Amino acid sequence: MATLTGNGVHGRLAGRMALITGGLRGIGLACAKRFAAEGATLLLSDLDPLDAPAVRAALAELDGAADYIRADVTSEQDWLSIRAALDEGSGKLHILVNNAGIDQTGAIDSISLDLWHHVMDINATGPFLAARTLLPQLARGGADVRGGASVINISSIMGIVGHAEASAYNASKGALRLFTKGIAMEWAQAGMAIRANSIHPGCIFTALLESGFQNWVERGYAASVDDLVEAMAAKTPMGRLGRPEDVAAAAAFLASDDSAYMTGTELVIDGGWTAQ
Ligand code: NAP
Repeated sequence: MATLTGNGVHGRLAGRMALITGGLRGIGLACAKRFAAEGATLLLSDLDPLDAPAVRAALAELDGAADYIRADVTSEQDWLSIRAALDEGSGKLHILVNNAGIDQTGAIDSISLDLWHHVMDINATGPFLAARTLLPQLARGGADVRGGASVINISSIMGIVGHAEASAYNASKGALRLFTKGIAMEWAQAGMAIRANSIHPGCIFTALLESGFQNWVERGYAASVDDLVEAMAAKTPMGRLGRPEDVAAAAAFLASDDSAYMTGTELVIDGGWTAQ
């Protein structure tokens, strides 16, 4: 792995090391850009091989602030590789964003046990493996900064409210929501300088949302993805779908000392959807 370098000294996240899973696209990449703009140094992980065009594009956009490691969040071995990569540098991690996730829709009688496990493994077990494996690096990073290290788990509004034909996704994101509160309590009560909070995006226009919409179109719920985008925007009090940058702004707040007194809480970024 190349040396981990930073691109800025100013900003709320100057001098901090952030790991973002699923960091090559969508919400993860938006978080990476925002964190880099605020001075963080980044390690991105995703499923693409090191020589994939998406890796080159993301690293170019981040202009020297980021490095990349291929890692499947469901693999214990891959988490050990991430830990080794961090230890090749300072051995400290200040910000962990568990963002990698998959959407899965389907009526309960259409979900195989394998599919159920697959959704749970990526959306819930991945963040567990992350927190367990990187605890020493987070503890060392947390000792460095006033607000402590920050673990940010990207759940969903689907981790708070139910949705028809989304039970596996609901269960995985609800598990992540309460897992976050569990580790937040554990670390706060042990006097550790690590906070954990969850973010709950509503409909954010990314590849994941688009493929979910495509699935609904194929099952006859709408004529086109565009129709669904329009319908979802109309159902959203603020009248539009979210942008990855809307979530990244909340993540940067949770990553910074501005949220120093927040742990075990949840930020909902949904244009008012769940307030209705
Ligand atoms: P996205 O554009 O699909 O990005 C997710 C990234 O995670 C992709 O690069 C994906 O790789 C990667 N990934 C999937 N499985 C992985 C694994 N096992 N190990 C490592 N990386 C893996 O999705 P997004 O919309 O930005 O979503 C990011 C997070 O926000 C997810 O947790 C999602 O559930 C949550 N969220 C999204 C929305 C929304 O409306 N977009 C709403 C609520 C919550 P591949 O592309 O190769 O699969």
